[in-house]
Amino acid sequence: MDTVLWVVIPCYNEEEVLPMTAGLFREELRKLIQAGKISPDSRILYVNDGSKDRTWEIIEELATQDSCFLGICQSRNRGHQNAVLAGLMEAKEYADITISIDCDGQDDIAAMERMVDAYHEGCEVVYGVRSSRKSDTVFKRATARGFYRFLNRMGAEVVYDHADYRLVSRRVLEAFADYREVNLFLRGMFPLVGFKSTCVPYERHERMAGESHYPLSKMLLLAIDGITSTSIRPLHLIGWIGAIVSILGFAGIIWAIVVHFLGNAIAGWASLLCISCFLGGIQLISIGVLGEYVGKVYMETKARPRYIISERTYVPEGGKELPPKKSPPASCSEEEK
Ligand code: UDP
Ligand code: MG
Repeated sequence: MDTVLWVVIPCYNEEEVLPMTAGLFREELRKLIQAGKISPDSRILYVNDGSKDRTWEIIEELATQDSCFLGICQSRNRGHQNAVLAGLMEAKEYADITISIDCDGQDDIAAMERMVDAYHEGCEVVYGVRSSRKSDTVFKRATARGFYRFLNRMGAEVVYDHADYRLVSRRVLEAFADYREVNLFLRGMFPLVGFKSTCVPYERHERMAGESHYPLSKMLLLAIDGITSTSIRPLHLIGWIGAIVSILGFAGIIWAIVVHFLGNAIAGWASLLCISCFLGGIQLISIGVLGEYVGKVYMETKARPRYIISERTYVPEGGKELPPKKSPPASCSEEEK
């Protein structure tokens, strides 16, 4: 089979877990090559997202030991979404299909085979969807469910319980490359690109080592980012709230005039206080929502680069960007024989 697969794995301060999962990824790739489902030229691409620990050194070691491992290094930490994008855009130049997956072993590596099968059946985007959340706490389960419901209600088109474990074909990536926004929310952007897609369920495990970089506060920020990057429904919503409050306010004015002319107007400080607090709250929230969008517009107009690759463990095709560092990766096929 000549379908070249590149597995894209973002890593940030993962020195503990990297050596544990590298063998698992390699083994899965070997299995797929042996089954004839992918080409022997397939690769595992690590994206070091400006780690402060030994992550990059480990990636370099892996790349020198086994030509199937490749690595690129971001010039600084830019966050998970930018790291995945950097990897996908790099892989697009060489691969027919890419699979993005976290490096901590939480996502079932064995599901890759079903993803590749779905691709061979004609799907160009295959979303990995968590079939159960047994390993999550009750709190994490509830907040995650709320997260997806809220995102969809607010107009961000996301696949339920899909994070960033997905297979994408080169054709989709080429179309995706034209989505030039700086505020990235990949799981909400891929459904917008279209093409035939399907879901592959998989069991989500515990992290094999190290700690999560996504506590509740960061999840909330991601949710806000996700909504405001992919939808303007909140702006419509505050318009509607404004309209409803105005109608209520108008009714209140008529009521006050009637009470005044009936002659029994009592100074009701409680009702006044409640109304002004309510209106003040709504106004501040609305300004906040507007501010969120103005901030996004500000960042988009700057159009800064979404990632900067400072190092590679290989020479990029055409050698256009960086001076050669190491000899280009030899084909895996020799090794497989
Ligand atoms: N990650 C990254 N840059 C960051 C934070 C995280 O590349 O700034 C990577 C991290 O190494 C991991 C993946 O993104 O491979 C998901 O992160 P994590 O496991 O901490 O998130 P969780 O699974 O707990 O939501
Ligand atoms: Mg994780």
